Amino acid sequence: MTQSLVLVINSGSSSVKYQLVDPASGDALASGLVERIGEDDGVITHHYGDRELEHRGPIADHAAGMRLAFGMFEESGQSLDGVCAVGHRVVHGGEVFYEPTLITDDVVAEITRLSELAPLHNPANVTGIDTARELLPDVAQVAIFDTAFFHRLPAAARTYAIDAEVAQQYGIRRYGFHGTSHEYVSGKVAEFVGRDDLNQIVLHLGNGASASAIRGSEVIDTSMGLTPLEGLVMGTRSGDIDPGIVMHLRRSADMDIDAIDQLLNRRSGIKGLSGVNDFRELRKLIDAGNDAAKLAYDVYIHRLRRYIGAYLLELGGVDVITFTAGVGENSSEVRADALAGLGRLGIEIDAERNAVRNHEARVISTEASAVTVLVVPTNEELAIARAAAALVVG
Ligand code: ADP
Repeated sequence: MTQSLVLVINSGSSSVKYQLVDPASGDALASGLVERIGEDDGVITHHYGDRELEHRGPIADHAAGMRLAFGMFEESGQSLDGVCAVGHRVVHGGEVFYEPTLITDDVVAEITRLSELAPLHNPANVTGIDTARELLPDVAQVAIFDTAFFHRLPAAARTYAIDAEVAQQYGIRRYGFHGTSHEYVSGKVAEFVGRDDLNQIVLHLGNGASASAIRGSEVIDTSMGLTPLEGLVMGTRSGDIDPGIVMHLRRSADMDIDAIDQLLNRRSGIKGLSGVNDFRELRKLIDAGNDAAKLAYDVYIHRLRRYIGAYLLELGGVDVITFTAGVGENSSEVRADALAGLGRLGIEIDAERNAVRNHEARVISTEASAVTVLVVPTNEELAIARAAAALVVG
């Protein structure tokens, strides 16, 4: 078998997502999810073609989970012999990494060091890397950084207005995240429209959510910051808050910093306001007349429109606004509300086009709309696979 496939690994703290990708055709030959690592009721779901294999039982650690998942490739008659690279999604590259990077011991040490900037993410990424290196020792391992696309943000956009020496000493700047998705989707938009000089706003609305403003191939602003906590309201994260809230909670509620971290990352956003973090469940609650759910939705849309407005101005006008990721690709309601009443700014959604459901890139604005509004499915795994293959095979 020719060695042309890439195994993409996205290793989180208690789960690992993986996909076997043919970077040339863009096909996903298999994909899977290892969940509840470290628990007695672990689950692995492995998809290939239109079939599925499932494993249930204790999964001691990442290595055990990935070993079982690799066994499922064999069980389903797929060999990993054709893999030319393993592409790892790594959340934080700091100031150090902004290109796809061949993984060595030194690179692992540096990603580990960057855990101080991403304590929830980088350690889990390193665990995935260590495990894959152990299980596939002869295959090139490549790290693709979620921050890379935003490395060259203009100074005014990346700088926080705090004591410059403190910022310098502690690496405090806007790094931005979901970069692989923003880069992939904005590239698809340029292809779709047939122009590479577009002013674009990309709205990546999934569990995590972020917006970016792109001029041509340069990204000029993005909503996530030092960490993925800043910006839009998300499934469980607050997005922007007054930093004074942190001091207030520390002093008045006697919450320690880990409790506040937990509150803002896991018990805020849509979930904090409504009790659920999935938009489908939120819709059910709203339809049942739940006021808290309605407020959560309104806060979400309010924040989204605030960012769209800011980026319209920063770009000095926009050619294309694009929705992507779970909510962006599936919720016609969020798309309609995010851009409602903007006819005077040349932005008009076509209700019928917006109601179409498929997995293709598509236009949802009216013929008359000066700004083109698109839905473009993101595919971070493919982007990672292509970047890894390009580095390894050339
Ligand atoms: P992640 O950030 O974990 O990659 P996704 O991009 O897959 O997340 O988005 C997941 C979210 O997408 C879900 O939590 C849900 O809120 C939303 N979503 C998925 N399908 C639909 C749908 N049909 N309608 C509305 N929202 C949806």
